Amino acid sequence: MNLNDPTLLRTDSYVNGAWTAAPGDRRFAVTNPATGETVAEVADLGAAETTAAIDAAVPAQKAWAARTAKDRAMVMRKWYELIMANAEDLAVILTTEMGKPITEARGEIAYGASFIDWFAEEARRICGDVMESPIPDKRFLTFKQPVGVFGAITPWNFPIAMITRKVAPGIAAGCACVLKPAEQTPLSALALAELAERAGIPAGVINIVTGMDGPAIGKTLCDDDRIRKMTFTGSTEVGRILMRQSAGTLKKMSLELGGNAPLIVFDDADIDTAIAGTMASKYRNAGQTCVCANRIFVQDGIYDEFARRLTEATAAMKVGNGMEDGVEQGPIIDGQGLNKIERHVADARAKGAEVLTGGGRHALGGTYFEPTVLTGMTPEMEMFREETFGPVAGLFRFSTDDEAVAMANDTEFGLAAYIFTNNTSRLFRVSEALEYGMVSANTGIFSSEVGPFGGVKSSGLGREGSKYGIDEFLEIKFVCVGL
Ligand code: NAP
Repeated sequence: MNLNDPTLLRTDSYVNGAWTAAPGDRRFAVTNPATGETVAEVADLGAAETTAAIDAAVPAQKAWAARTAKDRAMVMRKWYELIMANAEDLAVILTTEMGKPITEARGEIAYGASFIDWFAEEARRICGDVMESPIPDKRFLTFKQPVGVFGAITPWNFPIAMITRKVAPGIAAGCACVLKPAEQTPLSALALAELAERAGIPAGVINIVTGMDGPAIGKTLCDDDRIRKMTFTGSTEVGRILMRQSAGTLKKMSLELGGNAPLIVFDDADIDTAIAGTMASKYRNAGQTCVCANRIFVQDGIYDEFARRLTEATAAMKVGNGMEDGVEQGPIIDGQGLNKIERHVADARAKGAEVLTGGGRHALGGTYFEPTVLTGMTPEMEMFREETFGPVAGLFRFSTDDEAVAMANDTEFGLAAYIFTNNTSRLFRVSEALEYGMVSANTGIFSSEVGPFGGVKSSGLGREGSKYGIDEFLEIKFVCVGL
């Protein structure tokens, strides 16, 4: 890996401000999905080391919370500036361990850093209330106080942004954390910790525990009553496990889980906008985001033209190693991900779908998959129920608004939905009828530090980013003063 600053490549965990190896120097390999090569051997910590990280976080949190919000904000701002100053190296680390094109990795660094900038500002606007008292000789007020130490578990598909979206509001509020990154992408997390240390974030406030045994680390965090909150991004299945495990110690929970995003194109949509939006939503990160369009519903009158134009644009995509110029789609993260995509395409074909382009493994080999368009999709197919997490655009035909909304809502998930229409009243009616946490109208990209990100139903609990995101890390204390 060619870095301007090679010291950003850390391979030990970061606990209590110290770079920490596992007992017996146990390690696991991090692989570049574009080449299959081992990039680094990272410390493989487990349950005992997770408890040690919690031991460190408890006193560190108290000291951090005792500092002024302005002081915390200034340290965070420094962290943000260091991330931006080292953005190119961070993007190279990210692409090397995860596979997304370098242009997308650069975008993720800026997006991830924006949460630190935003919440550094929000730290200074944490306000309690003074209420009009109903009793003459009593005064009522509220304080907003940090929840304490929180546990965080993050996925591989956004190795930087899913961390900053949790850690930034948490430390802005005066909390400390013990975070376990995905085993495929620990290097981005450790580089962030290196920059946090350089920025002056005190020892013990951010602890990064890398390890292969996610279930043991997760259970240790959930069982420990000193951890007052769990925040998780990943699959619905693991989200349910963490919620169940946290019942014993009744923790506050934030869960950003799976999606099954509908993208609805109405006859009156601007077709250029709809194609550009669908390409951006569907193929970003090779289709491996929780908000990627998973079911594309297209109205009768525009269906054939939309299918033809989407196929043209899809067939023109450049697939390859994300470090190469002009590559728009990298490899799939691993063989398990690849198998799921193949299974969904085979199931759709067996049930009558037609392949307009792609449809199988890419000639590049490894875990590369061809950008694919399928038509003739129906609700009986697996792709209707489960997110594919791959570069496969499946087109469903519909006639009426009610039919589109009913199909879009016919899922246990409720994260993001997209609509394309030039009819304003339809835009409002359909947006209101969609049972989703986020609706993106006439654009395929909507996520920002300023807008609340999160889902309903089996897509999770709570919101990240925005003016609401910091509330997830604060408790409201009611104080009644007798005069
Ligand atoms: P995953 O299997 O749920 O893994 C996510 C994280 O959980 C990883 O760090 C993993 O560790 C850890 N983990 C696995 N089993 C665990 C357990 N029993 N206890 C505690 N931690 C455990 O999900 P994934 O396949 O990496 O990510 C894809 C999923 O995330 C998709 O469903 C996607 O929709 C969702 N996602 C949601 C959002 C959102 O904001 N809503 C954003 C991105 C992704 P290991 O790496 O060690 O296995």
